[in-house]
Amino acid sequence: MSRRYEDLSGPEIAERVRPSSIVLLPIGAVEQHGPHLPLSVDHVIAHEAASAVVERVGDEFDIWLLPTLSVSKSNEHAWSPGTLWLSAETMMSVLRDIGRSLATTGVERVVLLNAHGGNTTLLTTALRELRLQFGFKTFCVHPSLPPAYGGTSTEDELGMGIHGGLNETSVFMHLRPGEARMEHARRWVPEALADNRHVRFGGSVSFGWLSNDFFDDGVIGDPTGASAELGAELFERAVTSLCEQMAEIASFDFGR
Ligand SMILES: [Zn+2]
Repeated sequence: MSRRYEDLSGPEIAERVRPSSIVLLPIGAVEQHGPHLPLSVDHVIAHEAASAVVERVGDEFDIWLLPTLSVSKSNEHAWSPGTLWLSAETMMSVLRDIGRSLATTGVERVVLLNAHGGNTTLLTTALRELRLQFGFKTFCVHPSLPPAYGGTSTEDELGMGIHGGLNETSVFMHLRPGEARMEHARRWVPEALADNRHVRFGGSVSFGWLSNDFFDDGVIGDPTGASAELGAELFERAVTSLCEQMAEIASFDFGR
């Protein structure tokens, strides 16, 4: 039986989507990822990770998979032809409208599965907005936490594997074999930034940046050693961890 939300009929929504259900909204992006990857990377990762989670634990935790929101806040890549992006204001309005629509189902738990680092700060704000406005219990999970927000990236990339680097390229090669253009991959690591103690990705001082501030190609990281094998390993680890996270989300309450 399908666990895709849009496969249900209107009357089935009333029967099958219960207050104790979880709705899972995958959020990707359609944005430049340098010369070695297509625009689709974050869309593909969000969609495949969410689908794998629902396949494994959808029945156990009564999860309904929403259609992937594939255009999101990618304005750090606005300089590049090809990028489709929503402003922060539009993106917040879209999330609020989706929340308003979901509120009609009576569902109480809403999980955003985000595969695009540029959304992370806004989604954290949205979690509170949706909680306040509609009373949902709201959560945000990541297939891999962006290095700018406490996630790790490889030592060889000096912690700067932010966009189109080793891990992301590998996961994409695993999910879409033959679609990466590895002959165009090279090392794009901002060495000077890595020398900083505070003003750096994941450092104690946040800073505004655009993806062409470091290199014209718009990549931050080193994809040259990427492989589908590494991607398979990383993807499996991510899905296992996401399933564990869903278990905790399914039973989460505020302990009152
Ligand atoms: Zn990406």
